[in-house]
Amino acid sequence: MSEPRLRDDLSALEGYHSAQVDVEVRLNTNESPFTMPPGFAAALEARIGAIELNRYPDRSASALRSRLAGLHGVSPSEIFVANGSNEVLQSILLAFGGPGRSALVFEPTYALHSHIARVTGTDVLVAERGPDFALIASEVAAAVADAAPDVVFLCSPNNPTGGVDDLEVVEAAIEASAGLVVVDEAYGQFAAHSALDLRRQPGLEQLVVVRTFSKTWALAGARVGYLVAHPAVVSGCEVVALPYHLSALTQAAGEVALDFSDEMERKVGLLIEQRGRVEAALRELDVDVWPSSANFILFRPRRREGHQVWQDLVERSVLVRDCSSWDRLDGCLRVTIGTEEENQRFIEAVREVVGK
Ligand SMILES: *Cc1c(COP(=O)(O)O)cnc(C)c1O
Repeated sequence: MSEPRLRDDLSALEGYHSAQVDVEVRLNTNESPFTMPPGFAAALEARIGAIELNRYPDRSASALRSRLAGLHGVSPSEIFVANGSNEVLQSILLAFGGPGRSALVFEPTYALHSHIARVTGTDVLVAERGPDFALIASEVAAAVADAAPDVVFLCSPNNPTGGVDDLEVVEAAIEASAGLVVVDEAYGQFAAHSALDLRRQPGLEQLVVVRTFSKTWALAGARVGYLVAHPAVVSGCEVVALPYHLSALTQAAGEVALDFSDEMERKVGLLIEQRGRVEAALRELDVDVWPSSANFILFRPRRREGHQVWQDLVERSVLVRDCSSWDRLDGCLRVTIGTEEENQRFIEAVREVVGK
């Protein structure tokens, strides 16, 4: 028998990987370093114990959607929930992208935006970020007008560079676009403002804000993500979602997590404080540092090769993300903010490795 033949347009794509090396300090995937509070496990157990797993789950996840709607002061018809924000992004592209349509990304940015676009048969159009990876409203407007995409992706704070987009950048994209403007806010709670602030204005039917429980909520393992958008966007996503795509267990995890909002906000506060400490320490070393509004920091050793520095950190049992060979990020590394102890280990290791 001959080998199974992959779709022609997928043959050049690779799956998404992040190197996992066995180390003591893991600061490479932007997860929260905290587990959920002890009360969470007990509450979740009680909820799960009451679920009738012989029955299909609530297909429209109405309880979880109502809770999220309450959190953002919108109607449940403006919320779509899926298995992590990556599935939210995939649903948007299946419904509003696809063959004959296009998505615009501003590189360097989260690799999954263009990857998922390609997997869904959506053409990927690329524009460049300005100096220091920032987006400038007039340039964004020009790029959007020029590309005329069906979907524009913004990522704020941007992974892996850390900067947050000014609201006027989002507004410029919306004004120039006839299609959707998706703002991926996986790190939104670490930043001082959100594109959700814009939704209070009328006439913003094109704005889609995507959020996740993976980073700020310390629930990467539970796979819960959602979007806030016009009901027409939500119904589009419901057309392409598989029936019962969100298990009863996932819905329960999301609902119970929302009972611990105060705890989540306290931890975000701690991480923001730690981010300041790590940034200050990096600024004393022989590295370029980009200001971050997320739970990670991008930096570039000035006199040593990025990959070599990454390797030397691994030898000190500290794992960061090696972006040094990525397009436009020559020599760069990205460190996730961890607990105070983990950050201290990172700071000491990087100080030894790059010098002052
Ligand atoms: C981590 C991350 C996500 C999260 O994806 P989930 O599927 O929700 O775990 C989404 N967008 C960006 C930019 C990220 O960095």
